[in-house]
Amino acid sequence: MKTQLEQTEFWVGTFHGSHDGLSATVTATRDDTRPEPYAWMCTCGRTRSFPTEHGVWPTAWRHTHPTRADRLRSWATRLFTDCTVR
Ligand SMILES: [Zn+2]
Repeated sequence: MKTQLEQTEFWVGTFHGSHDGLSATVTATRDDTRPEPYAWMCTCGRTRSFPTEHGVWPTAWRHTHPTRADRLRSWATRLFTDCTVR
């Protein structure tokens, strides 16, 4: 994970939470040189980008504060992925 922002990148926000039993930190940035200027990156390696600031906050919050339904879904996705890989 990179520790320094690019010159065109602006810090937008940081979200602290946890998922999968591990603490997670999401860093949101804005970079007007990207096709989708808004993006966030989690310490788990997940990244997402958005055309507007609108999608950043709820998804970053949700990612670091998963609900029971989210956990169930990720569990189901993993199960499904395991089955298809085999
Ligand atoms: Zn994460």
